[in-house]
Amino acid sequence: MAQSIVEDLILNLTKLPGIGRKTAQRLAFYILSMDKDDALSIAQSIIEAKQKALFCSICFNLTDEDPCHICIDTTRDSKTLCVVEETSNITAIERTGFFKGKYHVLLGALSPVDGIYADKLKIRELTERISKEDIEEVILATNPNTKGELTAKYITELIKPFGIKVSRIAYGLPIGSDIEFADEVTLSKALEGRRQL
Ligand SMILES: [Zn+2]
Repeated sequence: MAQSIVEDLILNLTKLPGIGRKTAQRLAFYILSMDKDDALSIAQSIIEAKQKALFCSICFNLTDEDPCHICIDTTRDSKTLCVVEETSNITAIERTGFFKGKYHVLLGALSPVDGIYADKLKIRELTERISKEDIEEVILATNPNTKGELTAKYITELIKPFGIKVSRIAYGLPIGSDIEFADEVTLSKALEGRRQL
């Protein structure tokens, strides 16, 4: 009996991304050896997050209140919209403390080969926001890869008729890196995104 409970735990852990059978086994035995309160706290966090987390109806950020804390923050610049692929990107940009505008999460990126077309993403919702809200600039912060580039290009064309400023985040070389070891895409993008000194 106890054996099958442990086996269930292992099988459930293998459902997580990047967790194979071996890692799941190691995690399961670690969880069993943990302090009971700590282990239950992990379980409780999963239950609470799954029960309470929802997407903000304005920006599609993950939140426990709708609209999310960023959308209702009147101290933020509501004329500048930063478009990202995933909600986790908001966390990354917020950590820089640099951006004080609002966000729009697409919940993915265009990828025709995988059947991900514009209607699968929150692109229509983006154009609706642009037509209803007083937005002056859209910053496209989709990922600097094929899907992200395609998505940025698509949105740029789509919102051209609105006549607002559209910008793309600049890519560069990671600080502390060496030009010699940069790949061509990174280096060409770094040159493209150069600024005048
Ligand atoms: Zn929001």
